[in-house]
Amino acid sequence: MKNVRTLFSHLKRKRLTVTPTTTETRITYELQSAVDGSPRVKVTSANSSDIQRAIEDAQLAQQVWYNDYSAQERARILSKASSILSCRLDEVAQIEVMDTGRCISEIRTNDIPSAIHMLSYYAHLPGILSHGSVQDVHLSLLSYTHREPLGVTVGIGAWNFPFLNTVSKSAPALIFGNSMLYKPSELTPSSALILADIYREAGLPEGVFQVLLGDGNVAAEMIHTEHVRKISFTGSVETGKKIYKNAAEKMQKVTLELGGKSPLIIMPDCDIDRAVQGAIDANFYANGQVCSNGTRVYVHESIKDDFLATLVHQTEQLKVGDPMDEATMIGPMVSKDHMNKVLEYIRIGKEDDGATLLYGGEKLNSNGNFITPCIFVDCHDHMRIVQEEVFGMLMSVLTFQDDDEVVARANATKFGLAAGIYTNDIAKALRLSKKLEVGNVYINTYNDGPCELPWGGMKQSGIGREGGSLEALYEWTECKSVYVKID
Ligand code: NDP
Repeated sequence: MKNVRTLFSHLKRKRLTVTPTTTETRITYELQSAVDGSPRVKVTSANSSDIQRAIEDAQLAQQVWYNDYSAQERARILSKASSILSCRLDEVAQIEVMDTGRCISEIRTNDIPSAIHMLSYYAHLPGILSHGSVQDVHLSLLSYTHREPLGVTVGIGAWNFPFLNTVSKSAPALIFGNSMLYKPSELTPSSALILADIYREAGLPEGVFQVLLGDGNVAAEMIHTEHVRKISFTGSVETGKKIYKNAAEKMQKVTLELGGKSPLIIMPDCDIDRAVQGAIDANFYANGQVCSNGTRVYVHESIKDDFLATLVHQTEQLKVGDPMDEATMIGPMVSKDHMNKVLEYIRIGKEDDGATLLYGGEKLNSNGNFITPCIFVDCHDHMRIVQEEVFGMLMSVLTFQDDDEVVARANATKFGLAAGIYTNDIAKALRLSKKLEVGNVYINTYNDGPCELPWGGMKQSGIGREGGSLEALYEWTECKSVYVKID
C-alpha cells in the first residue's frame, strides 16, 4: 500500500494540491488514522491566496475544456479515468479505509466498483448531452434550445463515502464542460487527491479539477464569489442552510444532499428473515454512517417478537474489529468526536428518552473508536433518538397497527430523504410509496444506489437531484434559447 505521507508529497510535486505561493499564514493539521487514531501526515489547508488562484485557474481551464475539447474527447478522458481506477482499486480502497474506518470489504466491493462504473456511465453520455429542441413557433422564426456548461463549479463532500462523493460530483460536472474545485472533508481528504491524480493521468487539462484542502472555512471562502456558478454539497442540514443562504446572495445554483431520519416499515406479511437483513443493512452498513439509513424501524405489532428475536440473533453475527480484515463487518467510527456524539445519543436514549436498550451500544476498549451496533425498543415518535439524525449505529424500533397510521407517523419529520417497506403485497407497497414524503423509496431492499437514477431529498433533506437521468444531469447545465429570423 502506498504510504499516505508519500502519497501527499507525490501529489504535491505534481501540483495536484494547491501549493503555497505566499508567506501568508497557513493552517496545518494532523490527519489521523480512523483505524487506530495514529497520526499519519500533516495537512496544509488552502489559504485565501490559494483559493483566489484556484478560482482564476479554474475559469481559464474551463474555457479550454469546453471550447477546445469536443464532448467525445471529454468522454474519452473520463473513460480512461475509469480504466485507470480499475488498476488502482486496491490502493484507493486501502487509503479510504485509513481515512474513514469503514470496512475494506465494503469499499473494495461496493464503493470503488461503483465509482469505476460511474465514470464509465458519464463517459457514455455525450450522445444525449447537448440535446436541445427545435420549437416550431412561426414559419419565419427558427427557434431552438441547447445546453451549455455553467462554468466554475464547487463540490463539497462529507466524510462517509468520500471517494464516491468526489466522483459523483466531478464526473457529471466535467462531462458537461464545467471545471470543478473540490473540498473534501478535512477528516477524509486522501481519495480526492488520488482522483485528481487519476484524472491527470487520463489527460484532463491542468486546472479543470482541483482539490483544496482544509475545513469548512475553506469551503465557505471558495463559494463566496460570483465566479462560482454552482455548488454541489453533501453534508448536514445545518451547513446546507448556510450554503443556500450564500448562494441566494450570489444567485448561484445549488444541489444540496443533506441528512435524514428515514422510516423503515415492516408489514405483517413480510418475509421476516429478509426484513431483518434489510433493517441491518439500513442501520449498520458503513458503521451506521449513511444519510439514507432507515433508523426509525416501524414493525407491525403482530410480528414484533419474531422480528426482534431474529434481529438480535443476526446482529450478534456481525464481526466487529479491524476494518482492514476482509471478514470484518463493523469497523470504528470515523473520529473520536463522532464516536462521542453517538455515545451521547445512546445515553439520551437510555436516560432521557426512557427507551429500552435491547442490544449493544457499548464502547469497546481498544485502539480506534469502536461502538457495538445498538438496538433500542419501546421507542416513541417524540423521543430525541427517534427524531434526530444520529449518523451512527443506533436503531430505534417502534410498533404500529395499521397502514394509514404508519404512513402518517413516517411522514411526521422534517426530513424526507428515504423510506423502506418490507411486504409481500407489492400493490400495497406501491400505494404506500406514493404517500411517503421522501426522495427515495426502497421496497423489499434498502440503500441500493445505482448511479443511473437521480438522488436527492424532499423537505429539509435537500434541494435538487444528483446522479443520473436528465433531471439530475441538467443541474450541471444552462439552457439557452436561440431565435433566428429567416425571412
Ligand atoms: P458537515 O455539514 O459538517 O460537512 C460537510 C462538508 O461541508 C465538509 O466538507 C465540511 O468541511 C464542509 N463545511 C463545513 N462548514 C461549512 C461552511 N460553512 N460552508 C461550506 N462548507 C462547509 O457534514 P458531515 O461531514 O458531518 O457529514 C455528515 C452529514 O452529511 C450527515 O448529516 C449526513 O446525513 C449528510 N450526508 C448526506 C448525504 C446525501 O446524499 N443526502 C450523503 C452523505 C452524508 P469540514 O468537515 O472539513 O470542516
